[in-house]
Amino acid sequence: MDDTNTARRIITEDEYQDTVELLCEVAGRHGTRLSADAVVHIMEALLASAGLLAPPPAPEPGTCTALLPDDQGMWWQCEEDPGHADTSHSDGEFRWTDEHPEAVPPQG
Ligand SMILES: [Zn+2]
Repeated sequence: MDDTNTARRIITEDEYQDTVELLCEVAGRHGTRLSADAVVHIMEALLASAGLLAPPPAPEPGTCTALLPDDQGMWWQCEEDPGHADTSHSDGEFRWTDEHPEAVPPQG
């Protein structure tokens, strides 16, 4: 089955918060204190392996606000000028278009 053209489901903010809390609790039970960054990265990888995505982050100001998740579920933001004319975006490493099934087009 080729599902590369199918967007993964983005979980809700509530599901996201519940999952972060659960992960922190389980890690704590093992005496492990994880940084918030570590929790989020582990969670995004777990979600991605289950075919799910964390909600896209609020875009950073100053560049184009188009977003795209990678294979590990990390969201990347376009680093080109805000409001650039074409629908092709890049973070300097990846290049994608608004037609990508998981792309979040620029806002505003
Ligand atoms: Zn862009």
